[in-house]
Amino acid sequence: MSIGENLKKILSSLPLGVQLIAVSKTKSNEDIMEAYNAGQRIFGENKVQELLQKWESLPKDIEWHFIGHLQSNKVKFIAPFISMIHAADSHKILKTINEEAKRQGRKIPCLLQFHIASEESKFGFRPEDVEHLFTDIMLEELKYITFSGVMGMATYTDNTVLINHEFSKLNNLFQITKEYYFSSTEDFREISMGMSDDYILAIQNGSTMVRIGSTLFGKRLYLNEE
Ligand SMILES: *Cc1c(COP(=O)(O)O)cnc(C)c1O
Repeated sequence: MSIGENLKKILSSLPLGVQLIAVSKTKSNEDIMEAYNAGQRIFGENKVQELLQKWESLPKDIEWHFIGHLQSNKVKFIAPFISMIHAADSHKILKTINEEAKRQGRKIPCLLQFHIASEESKFGFRPEDVEHLFTDIMLEELKYITFSGVMGMATYTDNTVLINHEFSKLNNLFQITKEYYFSSTEDFREISMGMSDDYILAIQNGSTMVRIGSTLFGKRLYLNEE
């Protein structure tokens, strides 16, 4: 099947209100243009250098989402144009994003990444810290960030019971975070969860953004991990 056909099939399986982030990391401009010509406008990348090259050469109405771990010293390169940062995973990175957004005279939409998987990872806020993430003063200072919701990745496993549990945990963290810090804004509304192998489960648990790569573009030929 072609990328265009894959896209139609995936889109037809998504309920209303669930957005597709087409994860184009490692994929060529030609592949991206195939999805673009079939109507897709939101693409996800996880490497700053690769994203910059694609942003420069591809149509300017593409909305680029940064979905990987972001290093502080690279925020300035994507701050002028990035549509959403999915993996805001520390206070340090939020502070840097805020500074660069201010410099650009814009607000940058960000999702708070929570560490929900059972695998070890240094990235993501810890669920047990959710009640102590921000003070009012901190949120006031981060005024160039639009807090748009949460993001998480389930454990890489066939165990659907575990994946279900983790996605439901992220939904719960979303509700708590909204209630504690963002109850007065409509902006905080996204739950970014679900990839090629688990997006159906993610949707059943309330996902509003699925990040799909290999099911759309085909398997990646080389590894692209942090
Ligand atoms: C690569 C990646 C995806 C997409 O993975 P697929 O299994 O190819 O759909 C989604 N989210 C993040 C954070 C990724 O790095």
